[in-house]
Amino acid sequence: MLHITGVHGVEAFAGSAAQLALLTAPPTLPADGALILLHVLNPYGMAWLRRANEHNVDLNRNFHLDSGIWTGAPPLYKRLDPLLNPASPPARDAFALRLAAAGMRHGVHAVRQAIAHGQHRYPRGLFYGGAELQPGPRLFIDWLRQRLDMAEGVFAVDMHTGLGPHGEDTLILEPGVGTASVAALQAALRRPLRGGSAAPVAYTVRGSLGAALPRLLPGARVEFVLQEIGTWSTLRVISALREENRWHHFGEGDVDHAAKRRLLEALCPASPAWRDAAATLGADLVYRAAAWLFAERQP
Ligand SMILES: [Zn+2]
Repeated sequence: MLHITGVHGVEAFAGSAAQLALLTAPPTLPADGALILLHVLNPYGMAWLRRANEHNVDLNRNFHLDSGIWTGAPPLYKRLDPLLNPASPPARDAFALRLAAAGMRHGVHAVRQAIAHGQHRYPRGLFYGGAELQPGPRLFIDWLRQRLDMAEGVFAVDMHTGLGPHGEDTLILEPGVGTASVAALQAALRRPLRGGSAAPVAYTVRGSLGAALPRLLPGARVEFVLQEIGTWSTLRVISALREENRWHHFGEGDVDHAAKRRLLEALCPASPAWRDAAATLGADLVYRAAAWLFAERQP
């Protein structure tokens, strides 16, 4: 049972809280089972209140296992680049209005997909997937290959924040990943699932951790669920990401700044009720996944 947090740095606060809850009250494990907590894949982003890592790379767009796909950007991202990534410090510039205009012109879904898909063309831009595999993912991949090569079954949960209704979770499958049926997983987790062969998701991503897992663990049955805990509106989250990115690249970049505080609130709201919900939802998903994973295990 593998629980991953902090792929997106600043999102690790909620993931850490869930892991502390799991350490306080661990799930029941069989003698040959294990709970693995990956605490913060992107520690730089957590320390500096960034979603990206020390090279401005979005690690959930960086898990490419093949060479030769480290270039390019969706055509619509290229058109949106001046709007998304202005080369100037944070300033009021009618972003919401201009983004809405882009949505009217190109379609809201197309704009959302182009932004979140991942891009390898603008190294200072949002959702940059990098020009090579980053050190964090490299260490993680090496560790997985060394330590889990004998595993029969791995259920991985990758916990994120920022998408979906406030204080509620959305469970997202990765297309082509997983051996169990959607119905079986939904019954086990007692939640609806999105993505993969389940209901459609807001956008699809290239170079995600989840897509890489089955190829890294070819001897195991791999299940993967990305858990999103909703915070605020998509506009508020994307605006906060954009302002923090400007402050990082074109301002002084220190953490004691309004752009950093806004991003922290966008991805880890201060309200105790939200934080309680995030920790509880994170731990509960692991309890259910572990119960299912180890019940299915062959004696
Ligand atoms: Zn995330």
